[in-house]
Amino acid sequence: MKIEHIETYVAEQTLDTPFYFSQFEFRTRQICLVKVTAEDGTYGWGEGYGPATVVRAGVEFLAPLALGEDPLHVEAIWNKMHLRSLDYARRGVLVAAISAIDIALWDLRGKLLGQPVSTLLGGRRRERVKVYATGLYFIGTDDLVGKLVDEAKLYASQGFRAIKMKVGLGVETDLRHARAVRAAIGGDVDLMVDANHAYSLSEALRFARGIEELDISFFEEPVSPEDYAGYRELRERTTIPIAGGECEYLLEGFRPLLSKRCVDIAQPDICGAGGLSEVKRIVALARAFHINVIPHSWGTGIAFAAGLHLVSTVDPLPGRLRMPEPLLEMDRSENPLRDNLTAPMFRAEDGLVAVPSGPGLGVDVDPDALAEYTVSA
Ligand code: CA
Repeated sequence: MKIEHIETYVAEQTLDTPFYFSQFEFRTRQICLVKVTAEDGTYGWGEGYGPATVVRAGVEFLAPLALGEDPLHVEAIWNKMHLRSLDYARRGVLVAAISAIDIALWDLRGKLLGQPVSTLLGGRRRERVKVYATGLYFIGTDDLVGKLVDEAKLYASQGFRAIKMKVGLGVETDLRHARAVRAAIGGDVDLMVDANHAYSLSEALRFARGIEELDISFFEEPVSPEDYAGYRELRERTTIPIAGGECEYLLEGFRPLLSKRCVDIAQPDICGAGGLSEVKRIVALARAFHINVIPHSWGTGIAFAAGLHLVSTVDPLPGRLRMPEPLLEMDRSENPLRDNLTAPMFRAEDGLVAVPSGPGLGVDVDPDALAEYTVSA
């Protein structure tokens, strides 16, 4: 069996309500999907995290290395692609292109072998994965606090047991928002905050001290992803667990974050950090440092399915009889591509999502939706 075709699709949709976070505003959602087809017509889907047209260029650059290869040789193909990219892009979006092809290959391999990806990863430990709702972005409104509170209450009413809110507008504003959201959802729902590296160390420390009384489960990307010393110092000076890693790539990117003890929770993006092949290795590396992994996930159903399969196989650390459940991020912000491109649609019930049981990732792309959303080159 050989790989016969690798196709890319850049899908885009304008949002009804533009939203922003601490770094920039989103008016559209965009994604680069990759379809890898074997000579018998069996295909797998992947996607890359990051600017879609740049991911597409990366996939087009790397595709010749995979064409003609055996689609079961997923990690051998990964090694080839990695070596070919090393001279130009030791980190960044070319790694997202490797990730997109790699995820498609895991999906394809699962279909060819008639096994779900979780089985290929070593076997699932649970049929349903605990997810946290990511939302509470900012919009142009006279009552931002009211918007954040209403949205948090909605997720709680939908059964989510953990909610992550955006911060990074400024310490005083963020403190006001966090206190209002905690008061609105009560003490039974876990609450996390994500600054998207908007703070200096002193600001992050002041904010962390201010929210310590709010029982925050983790503080994500408090400072610049380049500021490993800042991460470490903040972690030593606050009681709140520190999370980060969505801007890191490959094992080598995670090594300083882990070995310098910058984070309590590592957050590789499967569609960015090197695909399922590499994130499985990042989980193993994190385990050697006794650090848990909660994957970053902000794409379509393909990205989310890859996360479900991976997290279904992972035991949280430290092991014990009454083990806490591992977590996966479930983006709830407006994204028609996530909601319409793939089927089946993932839904959380009581804060848990069932891991697909079919071969491969267990999701397929709707050809009509793909035709509707794909933008021409
Ligand atoms: Ca984040």
